[in-house]
Order: sequence, then structure tokens, then C-alpha cells
Amino acid sequence: MSSSSAGTSLYPTMLSPMKVGAHTLRNRVIMGSMHTRLEHLDNADERQRAFYGARAKGGTALIITGGFAPNDEGRLEVGGPALLANDDLAPHRSVTDEAHRYGAKILMQVLHSGRYAKHDQIRGVSDIRSPINPRVPVPFKESEIEQTIDDFVKCAVRAAEAGYDGVEIMGSEGYLINQFVAPRTNNRTDSWGGSIEKRIRFPVEIVRRTRHALGAGFLIMFRISAIDLVDGGSTADEIDKLAVAVQEAGADILNTGVGWHEAPVPTIAFSVPRATFSFAVKRLRKATSLPIVASNRINMPDVAETLLVSGDCDFVSMARPMLADPDFVNKAQAGRADDINTCIACNQACLDFIFSDQTATCLVNPKACRETEFEAPPVHGSKRVAVIGSGPAGLAVASAAAGRGHRVSLFEEQAELGGQIHLARRVPGKTEFNEMLRYFTRQIEQANVDVRLSVRATADDLAREGFDEIVVATGIIPRTPDIPGIEHPSVLSYADVIFGRAEVGKRVAVIGTGGIGYDVAELLTHSDTHQDPIEHFLDEYGVDPMITSPGGLRKPRATKSPREVTLLQRRQSRPGDRLGVSTGWILRNRLRSRGVVAIAGVTYDRIDDDGLHYTVGTESRVLKVDNIVICAGQLPNVALADELKQKGIKAVTIGGARHADELDALRAIQEGVRLAHDM
Ligand code: NAP
Ligand code: SF4
Repeated sequence: MSSSSAGTSLYPTMLSPMKVGAHTLRNRVIMGSMHTRLEHLDNADERQRAFYGARAKGGTALIITGGFAPNDEGRLEVGGPALLANDDLAPHRSVTDEAHRYGAKILMQVLHSGRYAKHDQIRGVSDIRSPINPRVPVPFKESEIEQTIDDFVKCAVRAAEAGYDGVEIMGSEGYLINQFVAPRTNNRTDSWGGSIEKRIRFPVEIVRRTRHALGAGFLIMFRISAIDLVDGGSTADEIDKLAVAVQEAGADILNTGVGWHEAPVPTIAFSVPRATFSFAVKRLRKATSLPIVASNRINMPDVAETLLVSGDCDFVSMARPMLADPDFVNKAQAGRADDINTCIACNQACLDFIFSDQTATCLVNPKACRETEFEAPPVHGSKRVAVIGSGPAGLAVASAAAGRGHRVSLFEEQAELGGQIHLARRVPGKTEFNEMLRYFTRQIEQANVDVRLSVRATADDLAREGFDEIVVATGIIPRTPDIPGIEHPSVLSYADVIFGRAEVGKRVAVIGTGGIGYDVAELLTHSDTHQDPIEHFLDEYGVDPMITSPGGLRKPRATKSPREVTLLQRRQSRPGDRLGVSTGWILRNRLRSRGVVAIAGVTYDRIDDDGLHYTVGTESRVLKVDNIVICAGQLPNVALADELKQKGIKAVTIGGARHADELDALRAIQEGVRLAHDM
């Protein structure tokens, strides 16, 4: 079997073409819209062309750009992307040309942020503020609604002039169109509010007038909210009515969104099982004969194929998985799914970067949105490279250096590759780290890296072998805090707990509220219900799959923790405030619902048979616990680096061994990939 047909037999539906409107899409994979903030950079044009071009070249059938506002007040922030009457189309044309050059179709997303706008021109359907935005929107007058519809249409016309094959009209995630549709945000009493027919009039008019302006050849995708996941959202009936109405108004295809940005339910983070929300697409499918796209937590070809074969959807949309691997489709086509760099749904370098006003990239693929920085790498000839340590930093540098033609030897003290990845992948909800391990292990194998397991490399060994480059990636050692009684038998290390090497009692104190403290608390309070993971998730978060209640929420099922866990920190700040912006709230809420208490501003006094003695302010307290788990951060493991230095052997240190504070896989992989690029 040829490599190009290998994948076709594995994923026949995903790789089959399908006609949508006047266009044929070469397969069923759509790259969903993402905010990248590339447009804020000086060389934005070049970088956007490289970013979208790589995904088109990688086999994606249809690319949807990040959202462009149809007018100033629709921008998400001051200077946010918009496509207005006098804007230069050349940067758009260079992106659309690049996508077409590689056989992909491309749509521009038109997004009006409504009450989510982070600027003072904020407008809304009604004067109801969003819980995630302090600004109160000024409601539109009727004439302004007409003007806004007109702006949507003009924006689509400009998109057509710029060479886009069509537009995606953003009607989900709680943005302006969603705000018109849901009673939660629409209390108007004129012809744009009240009955469902009046509430959906705004999107229907946008679609109808866009079709009228641009004719049958222009692709119109409408992104509908398949479930709002907020109180006062739409019911199933209302969602179906909207789907039928936009079909009749001229839409070619329905993309689906899940949950408003203010929803209390996670929709894309790692704790959401794969394809959880396919029930909402399946339900909606019965309402309309339009081709329909499933989205959210679809990150591997087998997940996509299963959904497509079930007939619940015609296309799958993947956004973050395209950051993680631009060649997703080509690799699936070649039967090389094992080579896909899988999105682990961590949000650490995509959403969390966007929320902190940085350009997005990807934890597992630091080249994402940085494509131009990795073009035409300098060639320095093949070198003999030693990498010591096979955690994320070591794996990244070893695979990338070998991929560039260097001869790499990778030394690992343990019997298997992976280092700290083995800790992460054991935490409930973090099984996607298995994919990270699989991907890097496969790259190491394919690039013929000389792997030496169960070997503790010394400076003398390395010197004897005469390597051209030595990279020390020996990682970290956990910090042992200086607390009287720290040797007490009740004290455990986080590694002992996570690897299941220690029995843990019913009452536990966790010292440290960083990512690892929270991971340990999650593990200790998790009870294995043996329930189907998706059903468990829907029960835990109170999601009503029938969407009988407005917004599709019901009472969450209370979860009982098998242990009483207390988290402690010395700082006065809010515990967990350094967790990821887009995932921290999920962890904090979850632990709170399991009765976990977090105490800030403590001084640790001592540990003895009575438990953990500590002081808050002037009050001395005792936490009577069976075990105390130390999650007090890390120190760099510098033993080898120091030994090499003492012997005058040149080496580069990366990852935790270089700097352990705030170390995470993101920085470790980034340093590894960059170093290999410069080698
Ligand atoms: P960390 O985030 O640096 O947290 C260390 C914790 O230990 C802090 O809460 C700190 O709080 C406490 N601490 C520090 N020195 C101490 C001392 N001498 N005595 C007592 N307590 C002390 O480190 P981590 O939890 O080990 O995580 C390592 C890295 O992995 C972090 O960058 C983290 O973001 C990342 N990670 C992230 C996640 C996630 O986002 N879900 C999960 C795992 C790991 P006080 O100083 O206030 O006491
Ligand atoms: Fe996926 Fe994490 Fe990369 Fe974002 S940063 S694309 S969530 S792997």
C-alpha cells in the first residue's frame, strides 16, 4: 500500500471530499478560527501568510481566519482586527493566495464582540453587563441595528474582494449575534427582541443580505451556538429554529460553537473528555439538512473519523490541534498518525498567551505563529551531540537536533524516556500528556537517536566520547522546605504520591499551591466512579444534553471526595493565582466543590505526631492530618552541569536544570527547540 493511500483506508470518511455550496472541500478537516494576535506584530503580513500557508500546505481543506470586526465598535479591543471600507486588502490577498496555492479554501470570520468588547465604544443588544467584563454596553437604537447588519454585509463584500472563498459569521461563544438570540442578554421590546422569531432576526438578516450581495458562489458558514451553557441561553427548540432560519436565509454550512465565554462549564480544557459535546451537534443535525461541523476537543484522526462515520456531522473543526501540528492531515493521509504532534488541551501557550496580550504559540510546538523565525535554518554540518535528561527539554532538543541531521545520543538515568511527563500524565484529566510522550518518543526513534537508558552520564564519560555539543537537561529536584520535623514519617513527596508509591491517609495537608500542589490535591480528591468519562463530566458540571432548560444547564451532581485536603501557602495572595488564566478557575472551582480548603499567609512551625503546626497572623493552629505532602517548588538539578564546569568541559544547560522557578513544559520545550535550531 502506498503511503498516501495508507491513511485513506484508516480514515476514509475524514479524507473524502465533500461539496459545500458551490465549493468542493478536499477532505472533512476544517481549521477553526483562533485569535493569534499575529496582526499586532510589525511583520504581521509575512507572519500570517507563513502561519496560514503552513496549515494549507499541511492538507487542511478549509481554513477560517481569526475574527475580523465589521466596524470599530465590534472590535474586541482597541486596535483589534477589523476589515473596514478603506482598509488595505493586500495583506489579506497574500494570505488567501497562499492558502489557494496549497489547495485549501479560506474563509474570513466576521465577529462583532458586542458586550465582550474591551474598549469604551462597547455596544450591546441591551444594557446588561457580562460577568466577565466590567463595562456596561450601550444598547443599539433600531437604526443602529440596521447599520450593523449593513456593516456585516460590507465586510463580507470586502472579504470577497480580498480573495476569501467566503465568510464565517460568528454566531456563538456569547458574541453579539448570540447576545441577540438569547433572552439572557436581550430584553428588547421592539422588533429585535421578545419572541424567538424577533431575537433571531439579526443573524437571519445578516445571512440573507450577505447572500443577496454576494451570490451563490460565495461560501457562507454560520457558526451557531449548539449549546450556550449559561442560564438564560437558548433551548434546543430555539437553536433548531435558528438553524432552519439561517438555512432558509442562504447559509451553506453550519459550524458549531459550545458555551459562552462566561459559561461555568469548561469546554476545551484538558479536563473535558475528547468529543464531549458531539451530543449537541448530533441533536442539531436533525433540525437541518445543511452540512454540519463538529468542534471542541477533537484532536486526533481516529476521534474525527469516529464522529464522521457516526453520521452526526459532516466535517470536524480543529483549531488548537492545527497550532500543535500544521501537517495533521498530511500525516493522517500517509498513515502516520503516530507522528502527529497532538494538542494536549493545556491552553498554556495559546489562550493563556492571548489573555495576557502575547502572540499565541503552542506548548508542544513552539514554531506555531513563529514560522518565519524557524525558516531556512543555518547549516553548520552534522555534529555529535549529547543530551543528558529526557524530560520535555531533553526530548525536544534531542528530537529537533536529530531532525536537523545531527548525530544525537540521549542519556537517561531512568529506565524509560519522559522525565516529568510521567508525573503529569498520571494526574486525573491529564492523560493527554501520554500523547506528548508518544510523539516525542516516536520522533526520537525515527531520527535514529542513540538512546541510552538507565545510564547516569558523568563528565568523564562525556569527555571520553568527544561530543561536539553537550546539552544538560537534567531537570529539577523537588525543594525540601526547612520545617522542624520535616523527616516525620507522615511527610511524603509529591512524586511518591503521584506515582502511587505511598499510602495516603484520609486527612492530608499539601504544602505549596503551585501547579503541582493543585495536581496533587486533584489526585487525592478524585474518586473513580467507573462511569463513562463523558457522562461523568456532564453530571459533574450539570450539563443537560437535551437542552430542555434555557442554556442547557441543570444541577451539577455533588462529588464526594475520598479525603479531606487542605492546601497551604506562605504568600498572602489568593491561592492558585499563578495557575493558567484559562484553566486555573476550573481547578480552583473543582477542588472547592470537593471541600478542599486553601489557606494563605501561613508560617510553618513544625510537624509532629499531632500533625502540621502553623501560624496565621498571630494565631497558632494545628492541622490534624495523617499525611503532609510537600509541593514546595523545585531547585535546578545542577550536579552534572557543575561537574562539567569544574572539569572545563563546555556544555549548554536548558530547562529546569538552568532555571527551576516557574519551570513548565512550555519553557522546557521552547528552550530545547530553539537550541536545536541554532545548532
Ligand atoms: P510553583 O508553581 O513554583 O509552586 C511552589 C509552591 O511552593 C508555591 O505555592 C510556594 O508558595 C511554595 N513554596 C516555595 N518555597 C517554599 C518553601 N521554602 N517552603 C514552603 N513552601 C514553599 O512550583 P510547582 O507547583 O512545583 O510547579 C512547577 C511548575 O510546573 C510551575 O511553573 C507550574 O506552573 C507548572 N505546573 C503547572 C500545572 C498547571 O498549570 N496545572 C501543573 C503542574 C505544574 P509560598 O512561597 O507562598 O509558600
Ligand atoms: Fe493545544 Fe496546549 Fe498547544 Fe494550546 S498550547 S494548542 S492547548 S497543546
